[in-house]
Amino acid sequence: VVSMTGINKWYGSYHALRDIDLDVASGERIVLCGPSGSGKSTLIRTINQLETHASGTLRVNGQELTPGMKKLDVVRQDVGMVFQHFNLFPHLTILENCTVAPISVRKVPKREAEERAMHYLERVKIAEQARKYPFQLSGGQQQRAAISRSLCMVPKIMLFDEPTSALDPEMVREVLETMIGLADEGMTMMVVTHEMGFAREVADRVIFMDAGEIKEVAAPDAFFANPKEPRARAFLNQIM
Ligand code: ATP
Ligand code: MG
Repeated sequence: VVSMTGINKWYGSYHALRDIDLDVASGERIVLCGPSGSGKSTLIRTINQLETHASGTLRVNGQELTPGMKKLDVVRQDVGMVFQHFNLFPHLTILENCTVAPISVRKVPKREAEERAMHYLERVKIAEQARKYPFQLSGGQQQRAAISRSLCMVPKIMLFDEPTSALDPEMVREVLETMIGLADEGMTMMVVTHEMGFAREVADRVIFMDAGEIKEVAAPDAFFANPKEPRARAFLNQIM
């Protein structure tokens, strides 16, 4: 679904991604971890070109993405993204948040878009909140609404950037359970998270980044039992 070869990115003179090679297969679940500033968000945002890369080749769903390309919107439709802060449209109800893109971008008829939205809102267990506005929901509910809004576009891959780190502890579990459910249904996922329990339970591969580089790629069991990189070991000691 995603293929990156030799991806480099600079913010001014700061080398934020260094020769990133990464392939994500359909149905694969990847957890990205690493210290603050290591480039996790930059990497994940490059996939839907919220950040552009300076060199290297990026393919998403078989299509090569180049900075400034015209068909970017078409490729983005298949890439769902959920951020730390829920980024719901504040002036729209939860239901409208979920239907606006399918109606305007995918040209789904309104009724059908609403039925689909209710289906996903039910799945993330907030159907009864559909007519409310984001500010009327708890953080965990807002994040589940954001996930459901992405799902309404029927994406081929879902990208998550620390989806639970802005949540109160008692709401983390409900969002993680929603994500585990998605994984069980075979959704291709890339998740930046420090929730190592989730990584252990769900990930096919854990990727450890440091200073803009992918330092280690391993199955979760191997990664947690015996990280090869000293930096990865230090990182795990810090967060576990
Ligand atoms: P965190 O765990 O804190 O979210 P991260 O691994 O997601 O960190 P990034 O946000 O990808 O890290 O940032 C990587 C590096 O690039 C950091 O040093 C950051 O300061 C820098 N950086 C990120 N965004 C920008 C920007 N828009 N302009 C300049 N520098 C940036
Ligand atoms: Mg980040």
